[in-house]
Amino acid sequence: MRYVEEFRDPVAAKGVLAEIARVADRIGATKERPVHIMEICGGHTHAIFRYGLDKLVHGGIEFIHGPGCPVCVLPMSRVDECVELAERPGVIFCTFGDAMRVPGTRKSLIEAKAEGADIRMVYSPLDALELARRNSVREVVFFGLGFETTTPSTALSIQQAAREGLTNFTVFCNHITVPPPIKALLDDPHMVLDGFVGPGHVSMVIGTTPYDFIARDYGKPIVVAGFEPLDLLQSVLMVLEQIRDGRAEVENQYSRVVPKHGNPVSLAAIADVYETRPSFEWRGLGEIDESGLRIRDSYAAFDAEAKFGIGYGAARRVVEEPEGCACGQVMTGRIKPTQCPQYGTGCTPEMPLGALMVSSEGACAAYWQYGGLRGLEAAE
Ligand code: SF4
Repeated sequence: MRYVEEFRDPVAAKGVLAEIARVADRIGATKERPVHIMEICGGHTHAIFRYGLDKLVHGGIEFIHGPGCPVCVLPMSRVDECVELAERPGVIFCTFGDAMRVPGTRKSLIEAKAEGADIRMVYSPLDALELARRNSVREVVFFGLGFETTTPSTALSIQQAAREGLTNFTVFCNHITVPPPIKALLDDPHMVLDGFVGPGHVSMVIGTTPYDFIARDYGKPIVVAGFEPLDLLQSVLMVLEQIRDGRAEVENQYSRVVPKHGNPVSLAAIADVYETRPSFEWRGLGEIDESGLRIRDSYAAFDAEAKFGIGYGAARRVVEEPEGCACGQVMTGRIKPTQCPQYGTGCTPEMPLGALMVSSEGACAAYWQYGGLRGLEAAE
């Protein structure tokens, strides 16, 4: 398959691995004093483990798993609000599948569904729109969740609902943006980060210029990467080469998909439908300025917060993490999933304590899927 097989070529991979080792040695990276490279996107975390890249690269490179999993960073209070919405009489609550099993303080959406709430798993907000057309006496609420990758499709659905004059379709908007949490991590004096592998899908929408501050203001290299093994290896090499050369630049390894200035149609839809919230809570990172989106007043008829009186402000309830849960530390790269005391004992995919264990982009899910308890044994 074009653009896939050539990026999985084992001979080419060996060559890039050898070059990575050469540059890593040159800059003095060792297991004891590694270069810390954060892969921001949860999709990259899973690709790294699926292809065993963490084991194949030079021992002086340490992957730090970033907060780029939208399900994982959703605060528990918002999961509770989803459940409250879904349990309202007459509501059909629509969500992507990987949010179904995320624990709330009382229950997850899948537990609410088992108890009788009408919760439907959808593949697109357009599926929710179709449900609204077919169920005019019901309120259809779509759980808008995700980074800039999914934000445009939700915006386009709202625009379509407005065009059709639908009165029973709303979005519970939890869309968030990637650059602010990167800034928050870079401002954290306890974080040790030498460079970034930037998100591919998000960048397809926003382009590469929103990352300029990382190189300009913080002096860190960032390389936007694709999702095949050679994409990731080449991106790691490009980060290392910048470090070797004393450069800090925004580079685009994924240029076959990511345009420098993003996708103008998607960006126009985002600008039309949403505005930036003053701040938004991120699980494990707390409130981050201008990191979340809300639906503009001009589309208030399609805003579940406005229609159902939920709101997001200073008076909102902040929910503490369950005792023993180390999701925040994992999500900020302070510890590895296997270092969480709950990994594989109090937290498994069947009985999750945190979202990272059940989201398809969660770091704990990646460790479990590709290592399971073996990862725990290796860490001991
Ligand atoms: S193992 Fe469970 S509780 Fe621990 S960090 Fe991962 S998801 Fe959170």
